Amino acid sequence: MSCSEPLVDAFQRRISYLRLSVTDRCDLRCSYCMPERMTFLPKKEVLSLEELHRLGLAFIDRGITKIRLTGGEPLVRRDVMELVQALGRKLGDGLDELTLTTNGTRLEEFAQPLFDAGVRRVNVSLDTMDGELFQQLSRRDRLVQVLRGIAGAKRAGLQVKINTVALKGINQSEIPFLVEWAGTHGHDMTLIEVMPLGEVDGERVDHYLPLPAVRDELEERFTLTDIADNTGGPARYVKVEETGGRLGFITPLTNNFCATCNRIRVTATGQLYACLGGAEKVDLRAALRSEAPDRNLATALDEAMRIKPEKHHFRIEKGAEPAQPRHMSMTGG
Ligand code: SAM
Ligand code: SF4
Repeated sequence: MSCSEPLVDAFQRRISYLRLSVTDRCDLRCSYCMPERMTFLPKKEVLSLEELHRLGLAFIDRGITKIRLTGGEPLVRRDVMELVQALGRKLGDGLDELTLTTNGTRLEEFAQPLFDAGVRRVNVSLDTMDGELFQQLSRRDRLVQVLRGIAGAKRAGLQVKINTVALKGINQSEIPFLVEWAGTHGHDMTLIEVMPLGEVDGERVDHYLPLPAVRDELEERFTLTDIADNTGGPARYVKVEETGGRLGFITPLTNNFCATCNRIRVTATGQLYACLGGAEKVDLRAALRSEAPDRNLATALDEAMRIKPEKHHFRIEKGAEPAQPRHMSMTGG
């Protein structure tokens, strides 16, 4: 049960959803996410297991009811299962849902322990089912492991939602197939517009694909029926009548979804970003490592509520700087 003041921002939005990055490291190098030669943080800058746990408890105490672990790739962190187990003990005791977003490469091994710790749903990122394109896009040859991971998750009883970044001229023509595959295999799916976060090797704008155009294309093949969305999240959902599956569209660039935002993000170094697209942040690591961690953490969370902006200001333009210099792998997608 939450016993301290709930987190409510200056625009009266109740913040109940935390996305917590447990590492900035990853075993893939998706070209829209990070450069080939990515520089990762020194380990000492990253929060320890104890610090992550303490943070999780502090957030639950302030009314956070859903925690999503992310990264980087959360399952490459060696002690991640200890954190999942520790936070899992709060399920039914303040926490309603503990989940994670993963690239799936290690999911086959972790699916059962995740289920045993109380996780019931995971998001798996999958941009293509073509082995060669997967290798080109993620710069690693791991499609088989990812598909095994998804199958293993299903066997363990986890619900798997597929996240796909829509990329013009890359996986664009495969999207209808992915939608059909996901639907017939019982997976919800979300399509995401590429966001200008952090420098990458190429120009993201060349592959920016507005989702309204994707929806138009999909409607030539499928019957899409709008369904009401009460998750408070950024996705707009439709039912794909032919498969019975749910399909979400996350359109940060073509649509602003900020009015119902209920979330905050914390990086692996303990920086709380009040908005994915903004620079407003508070340093929770400094609070955690201070002389009076409980008091300073409470003050930092109050400050985060004060500075959370009303909306983001993403734009994607040729030659423009990224909206934010930090990569999605840093902030935690
Ligand atoms: N490694 C895990 C994964 O890939 O699922 C978790 C972290 S990853 C940063 C979370 C999500 O962010 C993935 O679905 C990924 O495709 C997406 N992502 C990464 N960079 C992005 C960008 N610049 N624009 C839009 N989505 C991005
Ligand atoms: Fe790694 Fe996920 Fe970024 Fe791909 S999108 S490089 S899997 S963090």
